Amino acid sequence: MVRIIHHRIRCIGCNYCIEAAPYRWVMDDADGKSILVDAVEKRGIYTLVTSDDEYTDNLEAAELCPVKVIRIEKF
Ligand code: SF4
Repeated sequence: MVRIIHHRIRCIGCNYCIEAAPYRWVMDDADGKSILVDAVEKRGIYTLVTSDDEYTDNLEAAELCPVKVIRIEKF
């Protein structure tokens, strides 16, 4: 399984995560920050557990993120 963690408050809306994994990330036009689809929010941190087949795309998203607000954990 893969855990994706998004520290959304620090997102600068560059769109790279959406390009890497468009099924998992969308842009919120209201505030110009990306949304981790289906994530659960707790104190401003959004978290989602998903299947291993999303690992590569979302690892790329994390690596591309210029402000390093995406973390990926495989377990
Ligand atoms: S790559 Fe990072 S900064 Fe850019 S939209 Fe995604 S989370 Fe935000």
